Amino acid sequence: MAEISRRGVLQAAGLMTLGAVSGCATSRGEDGDKALFSVAQPSIPIVGSNERFPVRRIYCIGRNYAAHAREMGSDPTREPPFFFQKPSDAIQYIAPGKTVDHPYPTLTKNYHYEIELVAAISKGGKDIPVETALQHVFGYAVGLDMTRRDLQAAMKKEQKPWEIGKGFDMSAPIGPLHPAASIGSFTQGKIWLKVNGQVKQSSDLNKMIWSVAEQISNLSKAFELQPGDIIYSGTPENVGPVVRGDVMEGYIERLPSISLKVV
Ligand code: MN
Repeated sequence: MAEISRRGVLQAAGLMTLGAVSGCATSRGEDGDKALFSVAQPSIPIVGSNERFPVRRIYCIGRNYAAHAREMGSDPTREPPFFFQKPSDAIQYIAPGKTVDHPYPTLTKNYHYEIELVAAISKGGKDIPVETALQHVFGYAVGLDMTRRDLQAAMKKEQKPWEIGKGFDMSAPIGPLHPAASIGSFTQGKIWLKVNGQVKQSSDLNKMIWSVAEQISNLSKAFELQPGDIIYSGTPENVGPVVRGDVMEGYIERLPSISLKVV
């Protein structure tokens, strides 16, 4: 009896390792056993390439523009950068040049947009110095950190994790990745979000409290970064709600805009 349950535990552990490492559980585990079923690997198209960028983890930085930190009730001058994650399959790819349906999620009555620059990591590392951090970036994209604000606020109030407000299905819309090798890096440039043609958020990337290089350096002290990790770099002020039927357009200078209809 004890022997059987121990074996069951070991098999379960083997499957978990396999899923965590490969993301696509079709190969064999350390014990030679095959995976029970395959799991889809989320990925993002790369501009000018037939290859896709496989997503390992989605990191997000909170309150990275002073005016947004203030609107969320915190003091931007004293806070070190902090991070949270979304599951990798929260990605929703938004092809430029068309308006893609985006489902209004369950449980919320206050669904918010947050326009953000996304940096994609293709070279891992830990304790990465700021000076060399951008060498770890493969490319950049426009992203939205969609948020069930009412649920996030309720969890904050109860000092519980934000998960339900941030890490739900389809909560990470993203445009195609533009390789840094061709487009360069992003330390400044316009960033805006419109709803039904009206500007709601408008700022400049140079107002980020922590630059992409500083985000990578800080993040790599807490977690060893791996190829496939992507970082949502925070949103400027004037986040706000959308309802079904609204069309959101997100833009970052030098990148094509993305357009989503909330359905
Ligand atoms: Mn955000």
